[in-house]
Formats: sequence, structure tokens, C-alpha cells
Amino acid sequence: MLNIVLFGPPGAGKGTQSQKLIEYYNLTHISTGDLFRKHLGEGTALGQQARTYMDAGQLVPDRLVIDMVDEKLDEDHQSKGIIFDGFPRTIAQAQALDELLEKRKMPITGMIALDVPDEELVQRIRERGKTSGRVDDQDEAKIATRLEVYRSETLPVANYYQKQGKYVAINGVGKIEEIFQKIMHEINQLQTYR
Ligand code: AMP
Repeated sequence: MLNIVLFGPPGAGKGTQSQKLIEYYNLTHISTGDLFRKHLGEGTALGQQARTYMDAGQLVPDRLVIDMVDEKLDEDHQSKGIIFDGFPRTIAQAQALDELLEKRKMPITGMIALDVPDEELVQRIRERGKTSGRVDDQDEAKIATRLEVYRSETLPVANYYQKQGKYVAINGVGKIEEIFQKIMHEINQLQTYR
């Protein structure tokens, strides 16, 4: 199995690259942001609980996120593995994910982090906001909050995987196809040495 955590700040290109990876490797995409937006759209209780946090650019509480992923992992996936996109975003989530996967005998193959400078992130998020309809993409203060939250709460997660020897970073600036090639190269390395 190939289980990859695609990591990086908002606007790094995780969603775009996930789409290419799921197609190429026949993987299941678990994007917690997409799942929450689906709950919001359907007006579920979970969606209502998540809304205030999402609108403010803050993280949804760990327990809600972890339970949602746990449920998603129970679905019957006929794929060769999973891409985790936007999850885990805290150390507690990373620890919980290890437990969830251990139960199912399917460890994380590796984390691939996309490095993109802040100025470029802000530009990309603003651009996405013109078409995504996402409230959190259209407000400067919310964009700034999300980048701050990323630095303070999410960045330590990279270190968590680094300690397990499962972390690789690549430059996330450039053409989508070139970045995809670099990710595939890293995945091949991870598969060879694991
Ligand atoms: P994203 O689409 O990944 O940028 O996520 C949009 C919003 O959903 C985030 O700003 C958070 O409010 C919430 N969210 C998504 N994934 C997580 C997560 N793993 N932990 C906490 N909150 C999350």
C-alpha cells in the first residue's frame, strides 16, 4: 500500500497535486477540508460545529477531525492506498492517525511537504478565492490567520514524521507538471527504501 501525507501551508498546491496522484497511483483522497465543506453544504451537525472555526481560519477541534477520518477509513476503498491532504494538522492528529492506521495494519509510507514562500501563498489563495467561493480565501485577515495557525500548530507535524525518517520536502514553486514529477520521484524513493 502507498499511504502518503501531502503536507504544506494553505495554497501550497496540495489539492491540485492530490488530484494527479490519486489518478496516477489509484489512491483514495482524504482531504479533511473537502470533507468539512461537504458537511457544511449538507448542513449536518458536524458541519455546523465546524463552521465557526473554518470561517475564522482556525483549526476545527482535534476530536471532530479524528472521528471524521476514522469513519472515512472504514469505508470500503478499492484503491492502492490513501493520500491524506490537510491532515494531520496537529501533533495530536498525527499521533491519532498512527493509531488509526496501526489498527488497520496500514502504516504511513511517508510525508511529502511542498515548500512555497508566504508571498506566493497569499497570491495563490487570493486568486483561488475569485473562483472557489470559499469565504476563507477572500478575506486578508483570514488568510493571515490561517498562515499563522499553520506555523504555530501544523509545522511541528513535519518534525514528527522527520523523527520517524518519513519526511521529504520539495520545492512547490514551478509548473504543476514539474512538481508532480518531483513528487513521483520521491514516492519511488520512499517505496524502494521502505
Ligand atoms: P483546507 O481546505 O485544508 O484549507 O481546510 C479548510 C479549513 O477546514 C481549515 O482552515 C480548518 O478550519 C478546517 N480543517 C481542515 N482540515 C483540518 C484539520 N486537519 N484539522 C483542523 N481543522 C481542519
